[in-house]
Amino acid sequence: MCLWTVSSIPSGSSYRSPSPDTILSMILIDSHCHIDSKEYDDDRDEIVQRALNAGVALMLNIGTGDPHSDDFRRAVACAEKYPQVYTSVGVHPHDAKLYDDAAEQHLIELVKSSKKVIAWGEIGLDFHYDHSPRDVQANVFRRQIRTARGLGLPIIVHSRSANDETVEILQEECQGGDFPGGIMHCFGGTIEMVQEVVPLGFLISWAGNVTFKNAENLREVAEIMQLNKMLVETDCPFLTPEPHRGKRNEPAYVVDTSKFLSDYIDVELPSFANQTTQNFLDFFGLTLN
Ligand SMILES: [Zn+2]
Ligand SMILES: [Zn+2]
Repeated sequence: MCLWTVSSIPSGSSYRSPSPDTILSMILIDSHCHIDSKEYDDDRDEIVQRALNAGVALMLNIGTGDPHSDDFRRAVACAEKYPQVYTSVGVHPHDAKLYDDAAEQHLIELVKSSKKVIAWGEIGLDFHYDHSPRDVQANVFRRQIRTARGLGLPIIVHSRSANDETVEILQEECQGGDFPGGIMHCFGGTIEMVQEVVPLGFLISWAGNVTFKNAENLREVAEIMQLNKMLVETDCPFLTPEPHRGKRNEPAYVVDTSKFLSDYIDVELPSFANQTTQNFLDFFGLTLN
C-alpha cells in the first residue's frame, strides 16, 4: 500500500541535508525515542511539533527507568498526551536487578490502562556497561519475553556487547506462531545476526550511530539486508546523527539518519521513507489518519 505520492529526487552518494520539498513529500516514523525523559521537560511540545513539521508522523516512545517509581507512568502519560506518540514499557537490562513481581505487576497494569502502550521494552542484555549482573540480565530478559508474549505485545530488544547471548535467548524464547514479533533497536550486529532473528519475526532498526564515521561495518549490513525488514529511530536524547553531533538529539533528526542511510544503500529517500514507515505500520497493525 502506498500512503502518499512519491516525488523523485536526484540520488547521489554525498551527504546533504534534505530540502524542504523532499521533507514534505515523505513520511517517516521514529521507532525508538525517549521523549518522556527529563531532557525534554522544558520543550516537549516544541520537540513533537518539530518532528511533525519534519515529516515524522509517529513516534514510539520507549519507557525506561525504575519500575518501582513513577518513571513508567510518565511514559504512558506522554503517549496519552500526543496523538502521534505511542509508548512501550519494560525494564532495561541496566535496571534488571530492580525487576521483581511488584515491578511486573505495575507494568502489566500500565499496559492494560492505555491503548497507546503497544510494545514491551526495551529489554535485553548490555554486557558493555554491566549495570546489572549478567545472569540477572539474562533471567529478567527471558522473563519479560514470556510476559510480553502472554500479553500479545511485541518486544523491543537492546543488545550491546552481547549479541551471541541475545540470539541464543531469542532462539529459545521466540519460537512459535504466537510470538508477536520484535524490534532489534539501535542495531549493532552482523548480517548473520540479521539472518538469525528476522525469521523469528524481528525487524531491524537503525539509529544515528549508523551515520558515524567508524560505522562502516554497520552500513555494510544495512546495504545487504532487506529493506522490508528495516526501521529507523533516533534513540534520542542519545546518539545524535550527523550532521547534528554534539547537540541534543530529537525525533526530527530521524530524517537525517534516513537521508544518510538511503544515500548509502542507494535508495531514493522518499522510497526509503515509504517502505520503513509501511514496515512499522504493518508490524503494529496501525494506520495513519
Ligand atoms: Zn537501548
Ligand atoms: Zn533506548
